Amino acid sequence: MKIIDIINSDKLSLSFEVFPPKTETAFESVKTATEEIAKLRPAFMSVTYGAGGGTSKYTLDIAKNIKDLYDVPTLAHLTCVSSTKQTVKEKIAEIKAAGIKNVMALRGDIPEALINDDRSKWDYNYALDLIYELKSADPDFCIGGACYPEIHPESPNQKEDIKRLKEKVDAGCDFLTTQMFFDNNLLYNFLYKIREAGITVPVIPGIMPITNGNQVERAMKLSGSFMPQRFKSLVDKFGDNPLAMKQAGIAYATDQIIDLYANGIKNVHVYSMNKPDVAMLIQNNLSYIIK
Ligand code: FAD
Repeated sequence: MKIIDIINSDKLSLSFEVFPPKTETAFESVKTATEEIAKLRPAFMSVTYGAGGGTSKYTLDIAKNIKDLYDVPTLAHLTCVSSTKQTVKEKIAEIKAAGIKNVMALRGDIPEALINDDRSKWDYNYALDLIYELKSADPDFCIGGACYPEIHPESPNQKEDIKRLKEKVDAGCDFLTTQMFFDNNLLYNFLYKIREAGITVPVIPGIMPITNGNQVERAMKLSGSFMPQRFKSLVDKFGDNPLAMKQAGIAYATDQIIDLYANGIKNVHVYSMNKPDVAMLIQNNLSYIIK
């Protein structure tokens, strides 16, 4: 099933994300976590892809299992930076052969070792290039793209970032998923600006439940997200108490999701990070809302 058809239905929906194992020995535990999350019957499940090739090997296996074994629609991520045309074309052919219809087209973060490389020699510089590749391989792919309510860290300003986003959408993105954010007003402002810029495709907000005090610094560094005072207080108070932090983090994410639904957002994606218990607790908190 295509993600765009899920988005276009009238129902409120919740989807979850998993990431593939780094090694073969971890494959079974990720498979078990994936199965537990799939049992919750989310609207769809996405599977991330390692830009440097680290975990890319298993993305397709996990994504295929989600669709074939658990009958949940699946979204396979694919990155293009530091990849050759040949590798990307092979990956796209594998995705097609696996019967996967939904692809999240990403550039990926530029590996440290390549920061000063001559980028004019690269086969792919931006997600835009990958979208063209996907569309030419199969115009029927349902393509997602990433967007950044708080601006992509490499972008000089929001106007430029939105201009680039529009090029990506015009190239063939059917929908966008956002980077995590902890203040919904940032999303509402962003939506206003992109609509004004003529970007009309559906936007799925991505919500990251912070359930571990140690996760905070890394998550903020990776995403560049603003940490509201209300969230800071919660981490200050409960960060050293794992169970309390988990409960508070889930409550905070639930609160964000309810506010999004209440303000007209129909589809929310949860960065559930291979944690079935977290996915389940959030879903339970919304049981009467997303019925
Ligand atoms: P792009 O859309 O290519 O944008 C990258 C930067 O280039 C932006 O600053 C943009 O403004 C600028 N830009 C775009 N086009 C041009 C142009 N023509 N000229 C000049 N500048 C331009 N990473 C992974 O490795 N694996 C994953 O599975 C993964 N999943 C993600 C899912 C979501 C929802 C999000 C939000 C991020 C995800 N990431 C993932 C991280 C992502 O790869 C990084 O944020 C990466 O730095 C940018 O990827 P992008 O696809 O947004 O890039």
